[in-house]
Amino acid sequence: MRIPTTIAGSLPKPAWLAQTEKLWPEWQLAGAELEEAKRDAVELAIAAQARAGIDTVTDGEQSRRHFVHGFLESLEGIDFSKLVRKGIRADRYQADLPTIVGPVRRPQPVHLADARFARSLTERKLKVTIPGPMTIVDTLHDAHYADRKTAAFAFAEIIRAEIEELAAAGVDLVQLDEPSFNVYFDELEDWGVDALDACVRGVACETAVHVCYGYGIKANLDWKASLGEDWDQYAIVLPLLAQSAVTELAIELAGSHVPPEVLANTGDKRVAVGVIDVASDVVETPEDVQATLEKALKYVPPARLVASTNCGMAPMKRSIAYRKLAALGAGTHLAAPV
Ligand code: ZN
Repeated sequence: MRIPTTIAGSLPKPAWLAQTEKLWPEWQLAGAELEEAKRDAVELAIAAQARAGIDTVTDGEQSRRHFVHGFLESLEGIDFSKLVRKGIRADRYQADLPTIVGPVRRPQPVHLADARFARSLTERKLKVTIPGPMTIVDTLHDAHYADRKTAAFAFAEIIRAEIEELAAAGVDLVQLDEPSFNVYFDELEDWGVDALDACVRGVACETAVHVCYGYGIKANLDWKASLGEDWDQYAIVLPLLAQSAVTELAIELAGSHVPPEVLANTGDKRVAVGVIDVASDVVETPEDVQATLEKALKYVPPARLVASTNCGMAPMKRSIAYRKLAALGAGTHLAAPV
């Protein structure tokens, strides 16, 4: 046995599918051609992960434009034509946010067809990522609900129904992406963990929550530069998440200023640590990956450890991302067997 591998979620899209190196890329095709191209890209993404020896694979999020809005586009109660420019993640960067105009509803499953297609392509463990309720609320303008907490719980109900269907379709693990947990500590303590638990409690598959320092885009790099030498946000976040109902905590560690000792705060959760830095174009060597894993192994026993990427690789250069994927697999094979 060795430490298992996964990726945070996304891989870059091919240039024939969407604009490259963009967070909100435009599709290059439309209609039936677009749908076929998305599926072709999913096949390539899963094949690349298999080649790299990744144990729990995703569809690379090839079918969605953005990790939050890709989930919201098919819900009712959100008007994508009413865009409001606002600062998000505590004003770290500006984005055009769709507006919540009424009660949110999920008239049909969002990612079920994509998940079934991915399931048909691989025998490996399959992970699907969904934005978590606090991050969803932080990436919308709300003209309907009384406050962020009420809106978050409305989304939690939708997410829970979605997870139930994904689990029934053979998805092994659903990961909720909550970069907002690293920003809004008071809200995390007040209602964030409860909203997370409302999404996952009692569902028939494993679940994870991913909390990170974001993609390698300029606004995030500037923010990271302002955080000083020791990024101890996880020292606040992890003890709270250790009490949650999720199976796994997915966090970043590679090439960052996260002190590895924060991993001692993970309780008995499985921990997916980022051993690949998505904010740098320098491709890790397998030995770099091994060294990061060994840092984590000082605080997390091997039976609870998973090797992953720090965050999604969507906005990266595709050639670099795929070399990093290979390093993830090769470096984890170098680590001591468990
Ligand atoms: Zn992330």
